[in-house]
Amino acid sequence: MIDYEKNGISYIKKVLLGTAIPDAIPEEFLDSKEMKDIDETIRSIRTSMHAIGNGDLSTKIQGSGHTIGVIKNLQATLKTLTWQTKRIAEGDFSQRTDFLGEFSKAFNTMTIKLEKSIQEVKDTKELFEMVFTTIPDATMIISLEQGKLFDFNKAFCQLVKYSKTDLLNKTMVDIGFFKETLQENAWYQELRKNNQCYNTKINIVSKENNLIIGLFSSKIIYIDDVAYIISVIKDITELHKIEEKLILSEIKYRLLAKEMKALSETDKLTQIYNRVKLDEVLYNELERIGLSTNPIALMIIDIDDFKKVNDQFGHQVGDSVLIEFANILSQNIRELDILGRWGGEEFMIILPFTDLDGSSIIAEKLRKSIANNDFVGVGHLTASFGIAATKERTTPDQLASKADKALYEAKHLGKNRVCSYSLY
Ligand code: GH3
Ligand code: MG
Ligand code: MG
Repeated sequence: MIDYEKNGISYIKKVLLGTAIPDAIPEEFLDSKEMKDIDETIRSIRTSMHAIGNGDLSTKIQGSGHTIGVIKNLQATLKTLTWQTKRIAEGDFSQRTDFLGEFSKAFNTMTIKLEKSIQEVKDTKELFEMVFTTIPDATMIISLEQGKLFDFNKAFCQLVKYSKTDLLNKTMVDIGFFKETLQENAWYQELRKNNQCYNTKINIVSKENNLIIGLFSSKIIYIDDVAYIISVIKDITELHKIEEKLILSEIKYRLLAKEMKALSETDKLTQIYNRVKLDEVLYNELERIGLSTNPIALMIIDIDDFKKVNDQFGHQVGDSVLIEFANILSQNIRELDILGRWGGEEFMIILPFTDLDGSSIIAEKLRKSIANNDFVGVGHLTASFGIAATKERTTPDQLASKADKALYEAKHLGKNRVCSYSLY
């Protein structure tokens, strides 16, 4: 092989396979058109492929021949794909390609899916806008940081009595929306903590300065990476008024019921319990005794010769004596004892957890207090006491009749004394 050929092959190898291309064709080949053609073609292939590889599709591809033709086609295909991708980005999802086999399939699937997803987002947005505008409850969207109104519906304008233009670009502070800072802060803190809240009661103020009680259901949402609070506000002002009235009526009713009960249990003249209440207490206490072995005593007190008081001083004075008498009794008994008027000038005391000895001591004390008292306009009076005590279950009638028996005995023995009767 002559040197010329050998040098030629070696040069072509260098241009084709070498990392760096020699600056120019060796002088010995300058006259060879064929060698110059090969040199130019290889140089063009290398430059254009390098440019395509770097994503540059604008380089003009020099030369001719089959391989250069294929590269030109590839550049054109990639240019078309780039244009198609741009169209898709602009929203034209009709773009399809069949240039690059498997890639085309993936490209077309991606385009179809993208179109579907964007349609879904559009549908969702439309649905949201529809719900937002038609929802009957006032709805507003404010920025999380500044509380600036971003959007609101017609119901919101109706609730706060502001027009759309009144509210444009306004913050909650601008329109003095929240009535109480404490409530506003609590709502804001809860939102910050949980991202949402349901039916939080917040007082707000209308344009006409009227108080509105709102139930806020709020959620933090993001629009273009900015945090907002969307709130649906239920107006419960009227409901609240009715509720307050109802509560007030209930309180009144309860007070009345309590008063009625007290009235039905109280003796009109002496203001101590009446016989109805005494019967009830005695019944309950005797029921309770069935469950334990605690004693109970019953005391009946009868004013001695009361008829004479009436006869001598008149009925009215007799009434005052009954009141004074009831006061002496109530001031000299224990907290747990129950005093009532049994009827006429007879009184009864129920003494729970008290046996015969204990109740006799109390009776004696009461007897002395009465005997020592100077009744207004009357002077000294005495009373007789009958006691019955039990540790076992018995009926109110049985116990009362035993106390009555003891009282009869006290009267019989000369009055102003205590007689007792034990059932155990
Ligand atoms: P004794 O010592 O035996 O108990 O004699 P007494 O006079 O107290 O008994 P009596 O049962 O004979 O009389 C009771 C009187 O109490 C008769 C009645 O007019 C009077 N009385 C009953 N209820 C009232 C009342 O509400 N007011 C007045 N002022 N008197 C009353
Ligand atoms: Mg009597
Ligand atoms: Mg009497």
